[in-house]
Amino acid sequence: MQERKHLLISPAPGTQRELVSLHYGMPAPAGRGPKCYIQASLHADELPGMLVAHHLRKRLDALEAEGRVRGEIVLVPMANPIGLSQFLLHGHLGRFESCSGENFNRHYPDLAAIVGEAIEPELGLDLEHNVRVIKRALHAAATAAPADTELQSLRRTLLSLSVDADIVLDLHCDAQATMHLYTETPCWPECEPLAAYLGAQVTLLAQDSGDQPFDEACSQPWWKLAKRFGERFPLRQACLSVTVELRGQADVEHAQAEADARHLIDFLTLRGFISGEVPPLPAPLGDARPLAGCMPLKTPVAGVLTFVRHVGETVSAGEVLAHVIDPISNAVTELKSPVDGLFFARDCVRYAHAGMKVGKVAGTTALRTGKLLGD
Ligand SMILES: [Zn+2]
Repeated sequence: MQERKHLLISPAPGTQRELVSLHYGMPAPAGRGPKCYIQASLHADELPGMLVAHHLRKRLDALEAEGRVRGEIVLVPMANPIGLSQFLLHGHLGRFESCSGENFNRHYPDLAAIVGEAIEPELGLDLEHNVRVIKRALHAAATAAPADTELQSLRRTLLSLSVDADIVLDLHCDAQATMHLYTETPCWPECEPLAAYLGAQVTLLAQDSGDQPFDEACSQPWWKLAKRFGERFPLRQACLSVTVELRGQADVEHAQAEADARHLIDFLTLRGFISGEVPPLPAPLGDARPLAGCMPLKTPVAGVLTFVRHVGETVSAGEVLAHVIDPISNAVTELKSPVDGLFFARDCVRYAHAGMKVGKVAGTTALRTGKLLGD
């Protein structure tokens, strides 16, 4: 394993953060050999991913010692050194950068638009040649992306490490949730076995959900370039990029994280990154549904929030999922499920303000339009 350190732009004299990436197997130039990229805790207060990375690292160390790693596996065990150091009044702020207010998982560059014109003369009738040309171009564009701030240099570093990979796994979590995944619709066929190994109860599908999250910055160039050039040059969706939501923020326990790491290794074995017998694919626990059918549970009033249903339960439209209690009037406001679906995530705070979204139900019908991700 090779450990590499990537310096971020210094935010103040005498201070400079670094991002650490661990490279297992055989690193190859961009676009040359199979590559898998896994990062943990881009939202720095979402810790399950870091514990899974800890267990993944132990397994990869052992597998590499046995000579069983094929291609290159890059593990970034802590993807956000900026967010990890942000505290306000003893509270950890890991989702938004305190200087700009920007979400760490948004605003990655649209690389398809950047490389499109330059690659055209290099494309031909050989599909795998085209894939190599595009991977090289994406890597060069990600590495050359302008960065004036520490946050932009973090985004540039993460994208340049990942954008030429065949598989990109971004390990996050929700507040309180069951295991679920986000991926772009063209990635679903390749994502399906990952969902089965991990025991995901739902995978939320969208194509360009808005605001350029990290996973889509890696998967989007392929379907966008296929749309632009597909009639003239053969292309395929050459990157499976998935946001893995490892349940809730407090689900940071060895046994669960060890099992999650084992399931990720199972998937990497299926995909040929680890040699050996492929573990049998378990029956899927869930299915894929449109992200546009994932409906928020909103409270119209403020008060003490208490849930009457658990995450992971199937619910019907109109069913009461939570109560909001006004301690002065003693009024109880019932929060009802907006649709039939899977109640897969809910907030972990128990005081709600008026208008707050306190849960999510994944229905099967696309009902929303516009930007599909939350803040
Ligand atoms: Zn997250």
